[in-house]
Amino acid sequence: MRKRIYYWTDPEHINEPVISETVLNTGVKINILKAKVEPQEAFLILELFGTKEMIEKALDYLSKYGEVEEISKVIKRDLEKCVHCGCCITQCPINAIYMDDDYNVVFKEEECVGCKNCVKACPFKAVEIVE
Ligand code: SF4
Ligand code: SF4
Repeated sequence: MRKRIYYWTDPEHINEPVISETVLNTGVKINILKAKVEPQEAFLILELFGTKEMIEKALDYLSKYGEVEEISKVIKRDLEKCVHCGCCITQCPINAIYMDDDYNVVFKEEECVGCKNCVKACPFKAVEIVE
């Protein structure tokens, strides 16, 4: 199975190899979709792959070193407002938006991690995040 999470590393653990130790100790595979690391704060969007047990173990492990929030947000596009300009495509960190062969912009909603980049990028306010 796959699970996507937001992860804030506690300041005292920023310089520790928390992600690689989670992989070694639990057997999950972790894809880092987004990382913003500053001296006092680290924020990551992570994608975990493994069995249910492995992922639960990994979430427990990560929780010892920071705060975990499971991603449950979904993207909603207003097709009446969207003009398929493509401004949002390059802003998506996980390539969940693309242009098809007919030049229509397509959102892979099941892939979305709720980063809101496309919401900010859209000049027509055609995208919103639904909790
Ligand atoms: S919110 Fe938009 S930019 Fe962010 S992951 Fe979802 S589709 Fe991509
Ligand atoms: S930026 Fe807005 S209008 Fe342009 S393709 Fe994306 S959702 Fe549609």
